[in-house]
Amino acid sequence: MLSTRPVAAENSAHQYLPETIGASESRSPNQQLLPITAKVNSQDHLEIGGCDVTTLIERFGSPLYILDEETLRTACRQYRDAFSRYYPGESQVVYASKAWSCLAVCAIANSEGLGIDVVSGGELHTAVGAGVRPDKIYFHGNNKSRAELNLAIETGCIIVVDNWLELHTLAEITQTASFMPVQIMLRLTPGIECHTHEYIRTGHLDSKFGFDPDGVDEVFNFVSKQSFISCIGIHAHIGSQIFELQPHQDLAKVLVQWLVKAGEYKLPVTELNVGGGLGIRYTESDDPPSIESWAKVICEAIAGECQAQQLPLPKLLCEPGRSLIGTACITAYTVGNQKVIPGIRTYLAVDGGMSDNPRPITYQSLYRAAIANRMGSPMTETVTVAGKHCESGDILIKNAQLPPAEPGDVLVVMSTGAYNYSMASNYNRLPRPAAVLVREGEANVILQRETYQDLLRQDRLPERLIGFAK
Ligand code: PLP
Repeated sequence: MLSTRPVAAENSAHQYLPETIGASESRSPNQQLLPITAKVNSQDHLEIGGCDVTTLIERFGSPLYILDEETLRTACRQYRDAFSRYYPGESQVVYASKAWSCLAVCAIANSEGLGIDVVSGGELHTAVGAGVRPDKIYFHGNNKSRAELNLAIETGCIIVVDNWLELHTLAEITQTASFMPVQIMLRLTPGIECHTHEYIRTGHLDSKFGFDPDGVDEVFNFVSKQSFISCIGIHAHIGSQIFELQPHQDLAKVLVQWLVKAGEYKLPVTELNVGGGLGIRYTESDDPPSIESWAKVICEAIAGECQAQQLPLPKLLCEPGRSLIGTACITAYTVGNQKVIPGIRTYLAVDGGMSDNPRPITYQSLYRAAIANRMGSPMTETVTVAGKHCESGDILIKNAQLPPAEPGDVLVVMSTGAYNYSMASNYNRLPRPAAVLVREGEANVILQRETYQDLLRQDRLPERLIGFAK
């Protein structure tokens, strides 16, 4: 029997589908609200990667992160292809794994030819575990421990040196053992302002990251005297969730000036890294540039500045996180209690919250939601989607537009691929949700749901308390 898709109401969640927003070739995943494979099936259910979201919840439990492989791979390819098309020299796209660090995600980025940026021993361990070649791993961080520096040297990755303490520690470590020269990049603060949330702005002068640009000569001079440190590149990152292109053009100018200066100190600098920062669409009013236009502006700006300075083209690196993976994932929850406060507000509670998505409480981030088992229903209700934590601020979405919802409905929050799982916690001792990777109708668990037993794994009970714990 032929089943037809139910007719969708005009103001239904169909407005969030790629086919409605416009899924043209030139549109990139970061300009969508849902993964590029999102569809509504004949049962009026949301499908991602050929999998019915409602069925996924029945199979794998709730809440559930659902990661669409095709969206992630498409974003990786768009970055890679745009850099090859618009930059006449060598280039390397590096995935900022802080956005979501786990074996499967690192393995996908690696298989698409991307390098990996890590900011801790744990992220480094994950990238290596995923099979990433050490010379494609870049180790960041403003306060790397001595143990982390030793691990980075042993692994053979490139260390992005952030400050004087780190530089001195590296000089000391490398002088006391006969290593091959350790390859580093220097992270400098470019002093560029961009309009984004204060916490995710990193390139302005008042930032905890990077060397002060006024001290560049001193840094270059010191590095030039180290026989076991080889400075191959210069790095800067100006912030995150940026929609403007001008700050990256300004950054290109500053980076090339530093490249010229590095030459004066005879440093073997052949790489420039412009960082990440391209924004994504979290709501209809967000209008980020496409991956291609971001890459084009940067490639042309660096190539143009180098030409003006008559410099050979450096290898050009960028390290996006959010715009690679943000749109590729949705989080599916089960609807529970509703509290109606007449004339004030209706709270619609779900079975997760700030522990699986701390961005709303941290950055006042906005999201869109839909009821996955009733995609075509008119969104006639204005409700506040609340988490289940013992915290009044545990609100996922204020004033969300949704159809009338009932306990047991599946509510999905969109664009949760970046800085959600990676920032997740066990607050209130909630086990972290599972994550599944979906592709062409197949779903594989990439992160298992934590159990209550997992929550006690690191707990130790001193003997004198054992009697009281019973
Ligand atoms: N590189 C560095 C050094 C960062 O600090 C960050 C994130 O803040 C990124 C890359 C990734 O940024 P985004 O996820 O905005 O692309």
